[in-house]
Amino acid sequence: MAKSFAPLPAVPDHPALEREVLELWEHERTFERVREKNARAPRFSFMDGPITANAPAGVHTGLGRTLKDVFQRYKAMRGFQLRYQNGFDSQGLHVEVQVEKGLGLNSKREIEEYGLAEFARRCRDFVAHFAGIQTAQSKRLGMWMDWDNDYFTFSDTNIEYIWRFLKEVHARGWLYLGHRSTQWCPRCGTSLSKHEQAGDENHAEVEHPSLFVRFPLKEREGESLVVWTTTPWTLPANIAAAVKPDAEYGRRRNGDWVAVEVFLDDAYVELVRGSELVGLTYHGPFDDLPAQAGVEHRVIPWEDVVLDDGTGVVHIAPGCGAEDFELSRVHDLPVLGPIDESGRFVPGYGELEGRTTDAVAEPVIEALRERELLVDAGTIRHRYPVCWRCRTSLVFRVVDDWFIACDEIRQPMLEANETVTWQPPQYKKRIDDWLRNMGDWNISRRRYFGLPLPFYPCECGYLNVIGSRAELERRALSGLDHLEELHRPWIDAVRVRCERCGGEVERIEEVGDAWLDAGIVHFSTLGWQNPEWVPEGNATGAARGLTHADLPDHAYWEQWFPADWVSEARAQIRLWFYSQCFMAVTLDGRQPYRSVLTYENVVDETGREMHKSWGNAIDLNDALDRMGADVMRWLYCEQNPSQELRFGYSLADDVKRRLLTFWNSVSFFVTYANIAGFDPASAAGDAKPLDRWLRERREQLVREATAEYERYWAPGVVAAFEPFVDDLSNWYIRRSRRRFWDGDEAALLALWEALKVALQVIAPVMPFLAEQLWRNLVSADESVFLAGWPDAGEVDDQLLGEVAETRRVVELGRQARSTSGIKLRQPLRRLVVQGARAARSYEDEIRDELRVKRIEFGEVEASELRVKANLPVLGPKLGGALRDVRELLSRGDFEPLEGGRFRVNGYVLEPGEVLVEHVGRDGWAVAVDDGLTVALDTTLDDELRREGRVLDLIHRLNQMRRDAGLELTDRIRIWIPDQDLLAYADQIKRETLATSVELGELRIEKA
Ligand SMILES: [Zn+2]
Ligand SMILES: [Zn+2]
Repeated sequence: MAKSFAPLPAVPDHPALEREVLELWEHERTFERVREKNARAPRFSFMDGPITANAPAGVHTGLGRTLKDVFQRYKAMRGFQLRYQNGFDSQGLHVEVQVEKGLGLNSKREIEEYGLAEFARRCRDFVAHFAGIQTAQSKRLGMWMDWDNDYFTFSDTNIEYIWRFLKEVHARGWLYLGHRSTQWCPRCGTSLSKHEQAGDENHAEVEHPSLFVRFPLKEREGESLVVWTTTPWTLPANIAAAVKPDAEYGRRRNGDWVAVEVFLDDAYVELVRGSELVGLTYHGPFDDLPAQAGVEHRVIPWEDVVLDDGTGVVHIAPGCGAEDFELSRVHDLPVLGPIDESGRFVPGYGELEGRTTDAVAEPVIEALRERELLVDAGTIRHRYPVCWRCRTSLVFRVVDDWFIACDEIRQPMLEANETVTWQPPQYKKRIDDWLRNMGDWNISRRRYFGLPLPFYPCECGYLNVIGSRAELERRALSGLDHLEELHRPWIDAVRVRCERCGGEVERIEEVGDAWLDAGIVHFSTLGWQNPEWVPEGNATGAARGLTHADLPDHAYWEQWFPADWVSEARAQIRLWFYSQCFMAVTLDGRQPYRSVLTYENVVDETGREMHKSWGNAIDLNDALDRMGADVMRWLYCEQNPSQELRFGYSLADDVKRRLLTFWNSVSFFVTYANIAGFDPASAAGDAKPLDRWLRERREQLVREATAEYERYWAPGVVAAFEPFVDDLSNWYIRRSRRRFWDGDEAALLALWEALKVALQVIAPVMPFLAEQLWRNLVSADESVFLAGWPDAGEVDDQLLGEVAETRRVVELGRQARSTSGIKLRQPLRRLVVQGARAARSYEDEIRDELRVKRIEFGEVEASELRVKANLPVLGPKLGGALRDVRELLSRGDFEPLEGGRFRVNGYVLEPGEVLVEHVGRDGWAVAVDDGLTVALDTTLDDELRREGRVLDLIHRLNQMRRDAGLELTDRIRIWIPDQDLLAYADQIKRETLATSVELGELRIEKA
């Protein structure tokens, strides 16, 4: 018995069919079987950048997950062996801040009161919870990963590998404790590094006070410097005032000194160079505070004083700003740090003590007013840095932080980046720029649930850096008994012996930057320098019970390092791409990835950022339920990842509508294959030229899509697939209808083969639909993902070019018809085609498609060229001559030149200077596109009109067949009212499967 194909519903129910396919994969262990099939094949090494397990995945995460899965599926279909290890970012600020919020804790003091051990356990449980949710979401999206063997950055194994890196960094002399002014989040109570804060998204529009304040000069009674500040809280810590030495400063009549360039219109009674003010001393605005005791305020020179805002005199508080701090080193100024780590004033600041930087603004302004130091007070809105994690406005504090010096590693990193292929290519330069300008890496954070920095500075001056748990155990003097995992508070209890003096040393309290955690995974997950394979060796510390991930041995690392490919969002250039490069170049001298795909953010359908509060955010689960995963994946894949990706339900509807063309082609095949009892295994029949074309077109699809997959360019895959489906549906099927009605096996076979290859090619992008249709058309019990990849043979470019041109001629012919208002069913006498050489041998097809009786290839004389002056451009060029030129153009008195130019009365008019129109002469409809012109003779005679009526009638009758619910194979009898159309009875019978046509009221009847 012939194979039977399951009929398709009118439209696919994506979410429903996806759930079926998920069950099928589960049931058949499809993913495991793919892995088994490729187990000994060449490797394709992909390293997953860990996603933060601190919330359900959003549609942005969906984009990254999709791209990773698309190219992994492609590589697996090509027969490569993959690792499929998923990673979770599981410690550091991302996690802590969320857990704090959940517990209702509002400060570090409250965390400490809550208890660090319990807090650490809560953090671990929190990660476990969201890792579970993200896993379920990823599976639903179709992502194939080795879900029981994820890596977690908070495993002791990962921590140990970072320790090892830090020990190496220390051995090279790059590690130092820096006394610096640093960006500080008062809510999180920690400094933040430049790379965390660098993105534009880490700034917000904020309103701040804007104050002009007097600093009365001691040497010049009655005269004052005027400074400008937007941070009143820094004034009690003022130390100096800076002026630009070569700028001109002027004294107003009231004694105020400002830079002349800033206030050009003011009147001055005295002018001096900035250098003449240097060395003067002044009364500080808050000299009465105990903290200010003994401070002598003076004017210092500073070349970088800007003269486009402010006053040209800059208030310097070295404890409250980065540049201020640098100046304090140059000029040996004292440093006053007015606030503690929670941003509150410390003792020594009188009534300000204990208050936040925001809260002191009013009392500061009030005090200035009382002392008559306030020239003006207003407000200003400006972009201001906010904490990347909690959005609190940042301040500057001078603190001791741990840094890795990057001068020595910079050049090797730049060279390593030379070996990487970036997609989109312009991002290669972005990371180069980042590397050239990167400052030393601030790696310490004053927090709790993070990488414990293994630094044990001894009173003897020696810095002990522990490189492994084994070393910790060997050198420990106490605290090992309760070491549950390498996290605070347990690690803090361990004291070690100083390597130099033998004294007992404590660990510093700081934890590490989270990008150390993610940067090391090329080593910690692959078993770098690990002598023996350790089963579940990455399920250590906090990761115990969450995964079964092994710690492989060094031989394994050799096989999988460096990664062939990594893919993350563009923002990761200064984060993960940077940290993994830094760590790998340090440890191994090589870049850990060979090629990269980056992508931009997801925005809503109108291009706006998505925000819950704006009501335009889309929940990933909702999208999966309403659109289906395939539609989402398609939407992600079809857009250029170097631009923001638009996402929303009406875009999804558009995707569904376009996918329907493919769906309908499959449905068409199923219908006629079942009628014909078609079996691809035993199909025979004579192949026609169109079948050969379809085969070539299919090869072309494979060749194009393969090239796009190879360069990790999903929009290219979609851009190859869509025109193929259009050719398949609107040319091959359309041109072969009659053969399908006749059950022509060669046609069915050609169509089946084309659909089969199309399913393989698109399976990585929409795995569910492809799998379901594959099971229907090709193999009920074998997945498309086990079918391998179709070969891309040589293609006949000439043949493909001919048909492509033929389709263009037909398309233009349709345009010409629609401009003339003559409907497509009305036969016409004649079509003239100019500029299409390759389409000549397809005369029959063109005639048929456009319903014309004759085609002439040659010059189109039926069209009239109309050229008009483009007045805004040509007016200025020609001036007075314009009138004559317009007159000549309107009379057609011009000479066309090469390249779309025209000569008129001795003037040469360029393409942009004229407006060109091709207008059909009376009785002709003309369409022109890119060197191709077609002209339709639109004259109708009685015979043509009659034929038009016949075709209308046939159309009507077939509609009646459908309305009557007849099967495609049912025969009918027909009655028609028009006597003069009876002459066309044979044609009508043929086109409507009728056995008879008789005169009567219009009706049909099953025969
Ligand atoms: Zn913060
Ligand atoms: Zn010591």
